Amino acid sequence: MTAFKKETEQFAAKGPAATSPQTLPAGIPGETVSVSGKYTVLPGFCDVHVHFREPGFSYKERIATGTAAAAAGGYTAVCTMPNLRPVPDSVGHLREETDIIGRDAVIPVYPFASITVGERGAELSDMRGIAEAFGPGSAAGCRGFVAGFSDDGVGVQSESLMREAMETAAKLGLPIVAHCEDESLRGKGYIHDGSYARAHGLPGISSESEWRQIERDLKLAAETGCKYHVCHISCRESVRLIREAKRRGVDVTCETAPHYLLLDCTVLRDEGRFRMNPPLREPADREALIDGVIDGTVDMIATDHAPHSEAEKAGGLAGSLFGIVGLETAFPALYTGLVKKGIITLEKLISLLTTAPRRRFGIPAGGFSVWDLGISREADPEKFLSMGRSTPFAGEVLFGECLMTSFGGKTVYRRSGAGAGAEAALAEAESAAAGRLPGQA
Ligand SMILES: [Zn+2]
Repeated sequence: MTAFKKETEQFAAKGPAATSPQTLPAGIPGETVSVSGKYTVLPGFCDVHVHFREPGFSYKERIATGTAAAAAGGYTAVCTMPNLRPVPDSVGHLREETDIIGRDAVIPVYPFASITVGERGAELSDMRGIAEAFGPGSAAGCRGFVAGFSDDGVGVQSESLMREAMETAAKLGLPIVAHCEDESLRGKGYIHDGSYARAHGLPGISSESEWRQIERDLKLAAETGCKYHVCHISCRESVRLIREAKRRGVDVTCETAPHYLLLDCTVLRDEGRFRMNPPLREPADREALIDGVIDGTVDMIATDHAPHSEAEKAGGLAGSLFGIVGLETAFPALYTGLVKKGIITLEKLISLLTTAPRRRFGIPAGGFSVWDLGISREADPEKFLSMGRSTPFAGEVLFGECLMTSFGGKTVYRRSGAGAGAEAALAEAESAAAGRLPGQA
């Protein structure tokens, strides 16, 4: 039995019964799901946390390859993180990114601008100018408007600066999207400060470095009325804090990633593909995140797709960069590990992957993908369209194969061997959607 199977199996008993594709209802609010013979048509997913590395790091990933990988994973919208060169902290710097998006993207890309200049945490970016030029209502916003502000990759250490950012974002009506990490608590670790780190004498990253900053930000969000979204939560304390804040009426949402729901530090190996930030934590954290998904505390699942070059991931746990790819394994991994195990329904997974993120970030619905959910195979990074190859799911047997993805009436991904049946299923979904969602591009 693989580690992945073992780690998800124990949840099988306590969740609802698995939904088979044949029992899928023929409609999800605002979207269309149809089942045509052996194929399942799913509404285009929306990933609010990807790193496409352009401008600045095109040896890791490009807008062209990142959006192609997204389409291959069933995604028809993504939000890109701003740890780029230049950092999109001004209208001119953001335009460098949107020019590449306009030229190369095969699906809509909604960039995040940075919260602070250069993501250095010392002064605010030109939030107002950026919102005027690239906000949802601006001329530039017609294809892919700026989705909000984030310093993803680092936490904003200064409380007063974060307060100022939230006050400004609240006036602009755009969300603050926070990578929460208190550097004073973080240390030099590169895996979770838990059982694996202790057993191997390795430096760990404490959960407190994550939840302390979430705790601070939740207080600021309540005071400022800012739309606040927490990136990639990974530990039980974060779930609890966000659950309590929601009960108090704070305007907060959060995401976690497939690997935090399906894996934990008991499956670690000394390979770069197990090094990401935040790190894989304890089984109890994974269980708390799943409980958070089930009770609605966790609003959405994002991949934190973070490609690096082969050399940058070849140094084992100690010597590799943080980050793994996720776009091409997200749905199969979640379908296999959560839906087929009966932990959540397919409808719930669709909500986590598309309806909820689109609603929170104001991203219009659009596009479809055609899946064969009956096929299982080993995840093979060599077949990825992403330039990144590093994933902890490599070699795991996953159910679900994306055959085609369509956006705006155009086929944006087609797997070789996708037959006429898949074409027909997609055409059926497109025409049904055209009737229900007039003006959808
Ligand atoms: Zn991050």
